[in-house]
Amino acid sequence: MNGTTQPTQDWPGRYAHIDQVLEKAGPRTDLDSFSPGDTVKDFLRSQCKVLCIGAGGLGCEILTNLALSGFKDIHVIDMDTIDISNLNRQFLFRPADVGKSKAEAAAAFVMKRVPGVKVTPYFGKIQDKDTDYYMQFHLIICGLDSVEARRWINATLVQMVDEENPESLKPLIDGGTEGFKGQARVILPTITSCYECSLDMLNKPTAFPICTIANTPRLPEHCIEFASVLEWPRLRPDIKMDTDDPDHIEWLYRIASARAKEFAIDGVTWSLTQGVVKNIIPAIASTNAIIAASCCNEAFKIATSTAAQLNNYFMFIGTDGVYSYTFEHEKRADCPVCGGEAKQIEIGREWTLERLIENLIERQDFQIKKPSLSSETAGPLYFQGPPQLEERTRPNLEKKVSELLGGDGAISVTSTSLPFELTLYVNFV
Ligand SMILES: [Zn+2]
Repeated sequence: MNGTTQPTQDWPGRYAHIDQVLEKAGPRTDLDSFSPGDTVKDFLRSQCKVLCIGAGGLGCEILTNLALSGFKDIHVIDMDTIDISNLNRQFLFRPADVGKSKAEAAAAFVMKRVPGVKVTPYFGKIQDKDTDYYMQFHLIICGLDSVEARRWINATLVQMVDEENPESLKPLIDGGTEGFKGQARVILPTITSCYECSLDMLNKPTAFPICTIANTPRLPEHCIEFASVLEWPRLRPDIKMDTDDPDHIEWLYRIASARAKEFAIDGVTWSLTQGVVKNIIPAIASTNAIIAASCCNEAFKIATSTAAQLNNYFMFIGTDGVYSYTFEHEKRADCPVCGGEAKQIEIGREWTLERLIENLIERQDFQIKKPSLSSETAGPLYFQGPPQLEERTRPNLEKKVSELLGGDGAISVTSTSLPFELTLYVNFV
């Protein structure tokens, strides 16, 4: 980086610092699974294949750490291209890389700096790849900012587990950061709790049901969404909203403030308005570094068996001093991905189908956008598409769920945001 000569090839002793832990057991090493010396070194450097999903803030750190920890066959997937605003923390990229694929630029940079390491990039979506592709890896690390992508890879890896074939169980290490907070966790699909099990721990989703925004706002965010989603198209139909334009934010802030006053809601500020409409999640380089380091420690421990792995959740909170904590997040028996029990929900006898759908969208433990519902006895209840089916099922929205089902029963929920079909047992109270 500073213009000094860079190494062009691997040299003996490059990994001397790591060899110290690979050559002898430590006090916490499980001797049944650890074979010190050449066996483990050979596995790490010639056989172990690791996949990093994401080549952004966390991904740049993860790829670097993996390469410097002795992993030599690294694959990386990212669907994004490099934006100028990434350069402050995504340190594998340079101004000349703006517009290029993150996965490709990151792979090229790491290979140039750490000779002997092979990084294979894929510029595209994780959903483009099938189970054969994921089957080739020993472990998978996620440095993603998308809940949807995480749910997809989590569900895919859980479904891949075949009890007859121990190789089909792929450890998933998931890192995530938001501002000064972050978490790293180890998921052993079907054995430990999975990503879906902990969905209710996420912060509130930023999408709110339209009817809440339009009729019953309770939060400052509802007032801001009212301004941006409903009032902007109504009052300024000819102007395209530009969330980078301070005048546009100012306009939204004024409308949202008036709305908040009307409903006696506190907390609408200019910066919250900007945060909500731009969907800003602040990125702090040092939080990324801490979480990526933790993920790579776990990857190294799992790959080499040099030490006990995290069981199974590490959280870091840097907002008030430094706080960190590890605990065992428990599996949920009614997890729709890894649990065996069906999910029960209780609703009122008077609830209309529309109310049920709004409730599903608002619930933290489902995180569904635009669900389509059907039941075995009543057939399609409501479908978001195709248009003919939407039109045909729309009248059901006003009907009572208890009448549509004719008593307690199961409803199947599908949605593009859901990588599986969710079955809900509805009990009326
Ligand atoms: Zn689960």
